[in-house]
Formats: sequence, structure tokens, C-alpha cells
Amino acid sequence: MCKVISVVNQKGGVGKTTTTVNLGVGLAKQGKRVLLIDADPQGSLTISLGERNPDQLSETLSDVMECVINDKSLPENFGLLRSTEGVDLMPANIELSGTEVGLFNVMSREYVLKSYIDSVSKNYDYILIDCNSSLGMVTMNALTAADSVIIPIEAAYLSVKGLQQLITTLGRTKKYLNPNLGIEGIVFTKMVGRTNYAKEIKSMVEEIYGKNVRVFGAVIPHSVRAAETSAEGVSIFRHDPRGKVAAAYKKLVKEVLADE
Ligand code: ADP
Ligand code: MG
Repeated sequence: MCKVISVVNQKGGVGKTTTTVNLGVGLAKQGKRVLLIDADPQGSLTISLGERNPDQLSETLSDVMECVINDKSLPENFGLLRSTEGVDLMPANIELSGTEVGLFNVMSREYVLKSYIDSVSKNYDYILIDCNSSLGMVTMNALTAADSVIIPIEAAYLSVKGLQQLITTLGRTKKYLNPNLGIEGIVFTKMVGRTNYAKEIKSMVEEIYGKNVRVFGAVIPHSVRAAETSAEGVSIFRHDPRGKVAAAYKKLVKEVLADE
């Protein structure tokens, strides 16, 4: 069975893309068949996997979604890129913002991405969707297509209000669009300093959101090595395999796998 996980937070810069890359590559290293979907018109995931110019790609997620919208069938493996680190990528570029606007007038507009994913899920054990930093139509498509979500939060700037809004949106999505949607967990990213602080924030989140939202034991430390990876176009496992960020993402991979 394929598990579809959306990596989501409407706040930008919290580590969604970095987490998608490293969780995805980490799962592939454990022998899983992994597809990463870039659902951000900025194409950050696409760039992070080594594609220098997403805007020059002629087959991207927006073409896939247009095909679904127009009831056209897709050629096998349409648009998919194979990364040297063992994951497949459905890239995105600026054209996705046009598709996003066009979606408003489409019938079953929240189900377009799900329709595509249903057609390729047999080929994968995990599909991770790197959401953009909004709760717009493409993100709603990602939530409708997902079995669960991972919410990266930058620990230093914990925005309880932002998290509340996100959890409310997830609740509504579950109620109206996707009754199976679960919360895989919250992962703290870019953690600076001592772990005591991490523990404090963690218990605060657990206190506010109760037992129904898991906080992952893995906490991703702040490290310039992690910041370098997107420019390098590789995962942390290739860039700094023995560093603390690689170790933390390895731990996250284990926790996700433990749910199987
Ligand atoms: P988002 O996708 O939520 O916007 P990104 O994954 O792109 O967030 O991360 C935002 C910025 O923070 C990027 O420049 C990235 O390289 C950097 N970054 C991500 N994770 C870490 C980390 N653990 N330590 C330091 N910098 C990080
Ligand atoms: Mg991103």
C-alpha cells in the first residue's frame, strides 16, 4: 500500500522543502519506492533535487493537472524525473500558479491532484507532497490527496496562532473533503541551542493540542550544512552524511517507518 504524506505549513521558511527532500531520500535509502511531488510554483523542491532551471521544464505538475482537468490521459511516467539519490520527482515551476488560479472554475477542483496520484500510487510505497506556503487551492488538493500530513515548525519562532489555523483547516478538510486525513506529526526544525528549550516547546505544543497530535521525537537542528544543501541540489545524506542534521532526519525516517 502506498502512503501519501503532505508536508504542510502555511508559514514559509520552516523547512517543508528540506524535510520533504531528506525524508524522501531517507525512505528511499531504506529500500522504499518514493515519489516526491513539488506543489510549489517556486519549484524549490525541484531545485533542491538538482534541477537548475525549473521554468525551462516542459513537463511539470501543472501539465499533469491540466490533463486531469481536461480529461486527457497521461502517457506512462509523464513528466517524472529520476534523482540520482533514488527518488522520483514530479517537478513544478511558475506555471503552477496559473493552474492554481484556473482551478477555481473546475468541477471537483479539490480532487485534481488526487486523481493523478491514484493513477501512479501503485508504483510507490511513499508519495510526499511538498506544499507551498499558503492554504490555497493547490495545497487543498494536496490535503485532499493525502493520507496524513507532516507539519514542520521552526522551533525558534513557534507560531501558535498559525498552527491553530492550520489544524482548523485540516479538521475542515477531513470533514468535507477527505475523511481519512490524519496528522502524522509535528516536526521541529532549525532548532538552535540546547535541547531543554526543545523539550519546553514540545511540551507546550502537547499541552495545547493534546494527545491527538504527535510531536516527533526527532528534532532537526539548525545547521549551515542543512542550509547549503538546496543550493547544492543534494540531500543532507550526500552533503554531510555524518553530521547532526543527517542523524536527525534518519531518526525521523525511522519514526515514519514505525507506523507501517
Ligand atoms: P519552506 O519549504 O518551509 O519554505 P525550506 O525547507 O525551504 O522551508 O527552508 C527555508 C530555509 O531554511 C532554506 O534556506 C533552507 O536551506 C534553510 N534550512 C532548512 N532547514 C535548515 C536547518 N536544519 N538548518 C539551517 N537552515 C535550514
Ligand atoms: Mg518550500
